[in-house]
Amino acid sequence: MKIQEADAKRLLLAEGLPVPAWEVARSPAEARAAASRLLHETGQVVIKAQVLVGGRGKAGGVKLASSDDEAEHVADAILGMQIKGITVRKVLVAAAADIVKEYYLAAVLDRGARRILLMGSAEGGVEIEQVAAEKPEAIVRIHADPLLGLQDWQAREMAFRLGLGRHLKAAVAIGKGLVRTMLVNDADLVEINPLAVVRGGGAPGAPGGEEQLVCLDAKITLDDSALFRHPTHEAMRDPDEEAPADAEARRHDISFIHLDGTIGCMVNGAGLAMTTMDLVKRAGGEPANFLDIGGGAKADRVAAAMRLILAEPRVEAILVNIFGGITRGDEVAMGLIEARRQQSRDVPMVVRIVGTNAEEAASLLEQAHFETATTLDEAARKAVAAAASQSAGGAA
Ligand code: GDP
Ligand code: MN
Repeated sequence: MKIQEADAKRLLLAEGLPVPAWEVARSPAEARAAASRLLHETGQVVIKAQVLVGGRGKAGGVKLASSDDEAEHVADAILGMQIKGITVRKVLVAAAADIVKEYYLAAVLDRGARRILLMGSAEGGVEIEQVAAEKPEAIVRIHADPLLGLQDWQAREMAFRLGLGRHLKAAVAIGKGLVRTMLVNDADLVEINPLAVVRGGGAPGAPGGEEQLVCLDAKITLDDSALFRHPTHEAMRDPDEEAPADAEARRHDISFIHLDGTIGCMVNGAGLAMTTMDLVKRAGGEPANFLDIGGGAKADRVAAAMRLILAEPRVEAILVNIFGGITRGDEVAMGLIEARRQQSRDVPMVVRIVGTNAEEAASLLEQAHFETATTLDEAARKAVAAAASQSAGGAA
């Protein structure tokens, strides 16, 4: 789950990281009021679109203002703006920093190494993917120890390699703080871009005139599978930005991930879902999604899964692969029959149900004239063939 900058900054602040004071505003008047409270800090405020996409600056969603009048005006321009297809409904108003230099620093999950990776670059401000593509040597990578975490010497090494020797103490605290923020929140990304050296009161309470190191932007993604361990994090879900399909999948306890192919897959169990996707590929097709209806699914969950799959216009055939254990085959069959009755468009479907109540399922499906398969290979082959004839028909 991606969270908004304001929430991410709150999590950073909770770990003691330096973040300039901010408020969230939902209207130009609120932005004006926030600015009037924050302008005394540095004489300027920065107003930033709160949308869950990067590159807001480039899109015109980050602007400075030097008075409350100007803040109101700028907020009015940013609110309602579309950034990468998302409407801006709120802005963050923060005490603006006087930037000397921008850096990039992030704690990310390196799945390959099965470790937390601290990634830094002195080429901050720009998107890190661009740095990685054009100047990979400008990215410093340091893996945290799986048992000991990020150690002081590692954080110092990062600071020196970024040229932050003059801000050693702050840089070490921030590097370690990012890893800590990741661990205590079960995040899989904690990214600061830019981490900036700023002149004077860049952070609340900072002595004037001196340079400080502060987090000007914050992007955090939380691990969905660990959300149950953090009940307060649920409040950070932004309903403005959750795709309707994702919200429906969550309501029905379905794990659902969109992919680019044409074969919709409905499976129970994550391992079986992945196997099914592999076999679709081996049969020459491309899966349109990963979808796990979980254990013990009843007819209504099956029908919801079908709606999710069919909502994707690219889907040209559906492969249902259910291994009945706790899940009863006849329940799934009834769900499929009901789903097909409600379904808005006619898409060929191949069903394989084995295990608990498979015979009952088979006779229900036969009565309803469903195409079935006994082996997974056969099911995948039939689904791929059905999709191919659909697209041939569509092109004709
Ligand atoms: P992003 O474009 O979505 O990543 O949004 P950022 O928060 O990173 O802002 C984009 C750019 O705006 C930064 O790289 C900075 O150059 C600039 N910016 C952000 N905050 C401030 C600030 O407090 N003062 C100044 N002068 N510039 C800022
Ligand atoms: Mn940024």
